[in-house]
This record gives sequence, structure tokens and C-alpha cells, in this order.
Amino acid sequence: MGNKGFGLFGGFGKAMSFGRSSAKVYVKAQTGKTFADVAGQDEAKEALAEIVDFLHCPDKYAEIGAKLPKGALLVGPPGTGKTLLAKAVAGEADVPFFSISGAEFVEMFVGVGAAKVRDLFRQANEKAPCIVFIDEIDTIGKKRDGQTGGSDEREQTLNQLLTEMDGFDGKKGVVILGATNRPESLDPALLRPGRFDRRIPVELPDIAGREAVLRVHAEKVKLADDIDLNAVARATAGASGAELANIVNEAALRAVRSGRKAVSQSDLEESVEVVIAGYQRKNAVISQSEKEIIAYHEIGHALVAAKQKNSAPVHKITIIPRTSGALGYTMQIDENEKFLLSKEEVFSRIAVLTGGRSAEELVFGTFTTGASNDIEKATKLARTMVTRYGMSSSFDMMALETTDNKYLGGNTSLNCSPETAAEIDKEVNSVIKKAHEKALSILSENMGKLKELSGFLLEKETITGEEFMRILDDNAVSAV
Ligand code: ADP
Ligand code: ZN
Repeated sequence: MGNKGFGLFGGFGKAMSFGRSSAKVYVKAQTGKTFADVAGQDEAKEALAEIVDFLHCPDKYAEIGAKLPKGALLVGPPGTGKTLLAKAVAGEADVPFFSISGAEFVEMFVGVGAAKVRDLFRQANEKAPCIVFIDEIDTIGKKRDGQTGGSDEREQTLNQLLTEMDGFDGKKGVVILGATNRPESLDPALLRPGRFDRRIPVELPDIAGREAVLRVHAEKVKLADDIDLNAVARATAGASGAELANIVNEAALRAVRSGRKAVSQSDLEESVEVVIAGYQRKNAVISQSEKEIIAYHEIGHALVAAKQKNSAPVHKITIIPRTSGALGYTMQIDENEKFLLSKEEVFSRIAVLTGGRSAEELVFGTFTTGASNDIEKATKLARTMVTRYGMSSSFDMMALETTDNKYLGGNTSLNCSPETAAEIDKEVNSVIKKAHEKALSILSENMGKLKELSGFLLEKETITGEEFMRILDDNAVSAV
């Protein structure tokens, strides 16, 4: 990321001189950040407070003979405030902040990375006490697994980093903070005592954390009186601090665009959707007949959600297309934040996901491509039920799959025989099938409501959860 891409235009000679002149000054005088700028993340702040104290008065620790860890590793998903925390440590301790990204070390020519590491530590030693922050440390600290291509360079850089960390005087007050969202790929050598032996989790914020992040950023903008940040926090389960900061800023931009002087609740709500689904495509031309299909599809999701005990309430339904490619969507928001899901709840979610397609089938007697994203999500959920949560009928508490990367939500790998894998596929299909049948039966029992609500949505384009429930609960009309 921090790669300046000099390889694109830099000739060999240039690279050489780059290696030489790498006396680039990494220091940023003062970060100006404090722990007050970091919302939530109390455990992380607590763990870092000791480092701050150490930087304030290293003598207190030296006198008693205590050595503080030379390095701490901030571990967590992107955008959770790891960089911000590192800056806040420097700000709290009032010491210089050296920062570099792991990617910057791993340049094209062998030796440059190691030279940069030496350089960085020389400068840091001169300025001690100070913080050295290495972002994306996994780019240099990957397990040395004998991969080809570029691994030589990385290995040299990593070795140099280890040498420097071992070599410098722990009492002097150089503290290295590393950040990564791939802790599992780090070389164990980095994690040995005397190196990054402290590991500080920086997780996605819970509801209270999200509200706190929104508050910190909302303080920087002018707010109308009707603001309910808790409602925004509830609607943004799974969002990172960076995304929340972005939501507040988007809301402020929206207020300016519409010529208002303060951010309103609807600005915030709209920007939640912008961050989730992209901007509204105001001039997208969608034919009436397609709109009708989309309306039925969305009401299908919403009805299946509303008619099951284990589903989160419907918050909003819209058929205004978004730049993400979504033609419409149904937002559900849980009353309370959930940390555990029961088998029934997971199954209900899958049923809700199949609800859109089910409505199309029942009303139009055919399928459209509009359900592709639902299919993907339903399959993912059903698969995790079977392979990771022990929620299937054929397998006991058997871990059939492991995730390779907890924080990037990415890859999983199967740990089973090909025969079992085939059985898993069957089981996944049967879970989805059952959910789909459930959705079909809910919708056929509520055909009148499906039609009424779809007509209403088609006319209004966006309806709230309350409007939806009012029509759903209105018995007089449902007799149609
Ligand atoms: P990371 O290093 O974990 O990827 P950053 O520290 O770069 O994340 O966060 C990016 C931005 O997101 C920050 O500059 C800040 O504006 C916002 N942010 C993230 N987490 C928080 C938080 N806990 N409190 C306040 N702002 C946050
Ligand atoms: Zn759908």
C-alpha cells in the first residue's frame, strides 16, 4: 500500500541511489492524537497505558530492573483503529512517532529492505524514547516457508528486523508497535519473548463501541437536534471504526449538498446505506415490469422475516437501485446485539434469504437472476452450519472446515476426505431446500399480504418497517 511504485519508472541506477539515500526521515514530529480520539477499545487502551507510562518515565522501570516488552502487536480487522491507537500512544507519551508500512520495506531489489530497517532503527535510537510503528507487518513477517520469488528479500528484511529488535537496549525507550490483520501468517520468530511478545486484540466494535465511535466523529460536525446515534449504531452491526467515521462524514457531505447547516438523522441513515450499498442511482432506467418483480422479491424477503419467530425485525425496504448493483434491499435490524445464533436463527436467516426468489416463483412462475447474491449468502450460511457449527443432522461436533483468516473473512479450507466433502455438499443443499420450502409455504399462506405490500412498495419505492408492519397487521384488508 505504501509502495511508492518507483519500480514503474525507476531505472537500475535510480534504485541504487534510492538504496543509498534511504536516509529518509521517518519521524513525524508529534501525532497530536490521544486516547480520547480512540472510541471504545478499552482493553487495548489499558494494555497500551503501561507502554505510555514506560515512555514517560523509563527510569522507574530501569531502577527496579523491569524490562518492558520491546514490541506489541496490534491484531485485528482493517479499520478498527490500530494505526490510530499507535499514534495515540505516541501522543499520550509525548514522544516522536516513526511510521512505516511493511510493504515499503519489501522493495524490488535485494538488500534495500534490510538497509531501510537499519536506517529506521538508527534514527529511532537517536530519538529515543519514541514509538516505531510498522503497519502491515505481515508483509515482511510472513512465515519463512521457502516460497520462491521475492521471499529472499523478505527474509533478509525480516532477519534484519529481528536482529535490530534483539540488539537494541530495552531500557532506552524505543517501543515497536506492529499492526496486522493476518496474525496466523506471522513468522513465529517474531513472536518470541523479547520481540512482539505482547499481542493486543483490536476487534470490531460492539454496539456501545459503535455508538462511541460515532460520537467521537459526530463531535467534529454540526448536528441537528433529532440525532439518535444509538439507532445508527444498531443499524451498523459489523461496521469498523473507519466505516463509522466515513458514515458521519458522508452525512455531513449530504447535508451540505442539500443546503442545510446541520446533519440530520436522515442524513445519517442515508449514509449508512451509502456505505453499505453505494449511492442511489437516481437516473437508472428500470422498466415497470422489472420494478414489479423487484418489489415482490423484496417483500418476499420481508414477509418471510416477519412471519418467523427467530428473525430480526424489518427496518426498511427499498427498490431504489444503488451503485453497488443492488436493485433493492430489505434491511433488518436486531433489537439487541447478538453474539450467539441458535440453529433455528441461522435456519431462519437462510429462509429469509430464499424469500425473494420464492416470491418470484409464486407470483410470476419463473426465476430471475436477481437472487444471485441471496444464493451466495444462503449457501455460505448453510455451509458453515454443516462444516463449522455442528448444526447438521449427518455430522456430529466435527470440524470439517477451518478458516484461514479470521479477520479478512476470506478463505476456508476443508479438512476431510473427498467422500465427506461430497456428503457436505448434499447436506448443504438439503438445508437450503428445507429453508426454501419454508419460505414458499409462508408466502403462499400470505399471498394477499404479499400482493398488497408489493403494490404499496412499488408505489412508494421505499417503505419503513413500521409501514410494513401496519399493513401486515391490518386484518381488514387481508381478507382480499
Ligand atoms: P487500522 O489501522 O486498524 O486499519 P485506522 O487506525 O487506520 O485503522 O483507522 C482509520 C480511521 O478510522 C481512523 O483514522 C479513525 O478516523 C477511524 N477509527 C477507527 N477506529 C476508531 C475508533 N476506535 N475510534 C475513533 N475513530 C476510529
Ligand atoms: Zn434478494
